[in-house]
Amino acid sequence: MVAWVPDRSGRFAKRPHYTHPELDRECEAIVGRFLLDRYGRIEYPLSTSDLTVLVENYCSDVDQYADLSAEGDDVDGMTEFLPDAAPKVFISERLSDPRRGNRQRTTLAHELGHAHFHRHLYAERFLAGNLFDRRDQDDRMVCKRDKIIGAREVDWMEWQAGYVSGAILMPATVLRRRAGEFCATRGLHTAVHTESGEAREMELAAMEAFQVSREAARIRLLQLRCLTTERQPPSLFS
Ligand SMILES: [Zn+2]
Repeated sequence: MVAWVPDRSGRFAKRPHYTHPELDRECEAIVGRFLLDRYGRIEYPLSTSDLTVLVENYCSDVDQYADLSAEGDDVDGMTEFLPDAAPKVFISERLSDPRRGNRQRTTLAHELGHAHFHRHLYAERFLAGNLFDRRDQDDRMVCKRDKIIGAREVDWMEWQAGYVSGAILMPATVLRRRAGEFCATRGLHTAVHTESGEAREMELAAMEAFQVSREAARIRLLQLRCLTTERQPPSLFS
């Protein structure tokens, strides 16, 4: 059962406190079920077209060519929650440029995080609240570029969606297995220090295997403790 704690951001009375393993398990199950239903097997990287269909399964609409300039500078995505339908997702048209393919993928997976993990919060609010006494901007998440994968934990909705983005594109057991194999072939028994040459190699291997940016690979490898910034690296995945 997910724990509930007071929401200090003031958005809701209470908020769900998902642990990392809870988010990892749920995201891996979401992707695994989807790929098994579609192909009868689970293989990575998740293609961008599969990722798009997956996000569409949790939304009433996904607009990949949205003009989000009115929402502010550097807005890459937005999820709008609706009282009578599944959420709508908007991805900035700027990310449809093939050179920004990785950003498009991390943003799609981030918005899936809002659409799936935060929808029930808004559903409760719609049920409880006066529909005529709300501002439209209360019912949507506007996601800036620098919050897509790297929000601070105190900014809990963006942090959760960012964690989901990594967990959807690089599911925990698959990435841990690949990192374990990487270390085994090099005789390494501890997490790899971020400033070592092996860290660079591990990041490049994850980029290739999961079709993500180096920054996304690095953040996810740190979350799963395959990489570490500690002077005395812990044993792998401890
Ligand atoms: Zn967001």
